[in-house]
Amino acid sequence: MSQPTIISTEKLSKSYGKNQSLFKALQNIDLNIKSGESIAIVGKSGSGKSTLMHLLALMDKPTSGSVHIDNKDISELSKHEQDLLRNRTFGFVFQQFFLNGNATVLENVILPLKIAGVSSKERKNRGIEVLKAVDLGEKIYNKANNLSGGEKQRVVIARALVNNPRIIFADEPTGNLDSTTGKRIEKILFDNNKNNGITLIIVTHDSDLALMCDRQIYIKDGNLRGEQI
Ligand code: ADP
Ligand code: MG
Repeated sequence: MSQPTIISTEKLSKSYGKNQSLFKALQNIDLNIKSGESIAIVGKSGSGKSTLMHLLALMDKPTSGSVHIDNKDISELSKHEQDLLRNRTFGFVFQQFFLNGNATVLENVILPLKIAGVSSKERKNRGIEVLKAVDLGEKIYNKANNLSGGEKQRVVIARALVNNPRIIFADEPTGNLDSTTGKRIEKILFDNNKNNGITLIIVTHDSDLALMCDRQIYIKDGNLRGEQI
């Protein structure tokens, strides 16, 4: 059973700053990720994991090299086409994508659908459906501020799932959670991977979580150091 490639990179490189302060955060990364795979990106703090994730997720531009989605070089797409692709294809579980604490759980979750121009009735139906799927059916109209850390992270996951993405990018999805809550988050992510074929790309420090993935990609000082932990 060979799945098609969903996302790949060629000599992907990213530098920050210029002249004397030029810093090569990522160098010549070649990756090939198949649809439905689960991939862990591991490596020490500062090794370039988040930089790689941001480039893969089209949230930042490479200094050189390319990212391909469905074998198409995304640099050939206009900014608007990239925004559409991101909105339709990806779900994000990133710490910096905060919830709006004063909005309800449902309002937070349906934000990507609003951006995608989905009708208000359909937004609500789909929002309620994914919130039930992450066991938050009882908290739909609560203010996000009033949830526990684990509940907030499940809201973030519901928001990532609401547009039926093909790829979920998760940067330290269990980082700030106790182990029981972390396990619950892992289960939601991997259930979606196994049952719905969603490709998972996860940055993690947690070697147990990394080992749950089909493959581990090890980054050291901005370089790909093979597939090991
Ligand atoms: P990781 O996620 O593995 O901890 P990052 O990808 O966040 O690492 O960062 C890799 C390196 O690039 C670090 O040395 C970091 O300080 C640097 N870096 C990241 N983002 C920027 C930026 N916007 N400007 C300058 N340096 C950056
Ligand atoms: Mg990081």
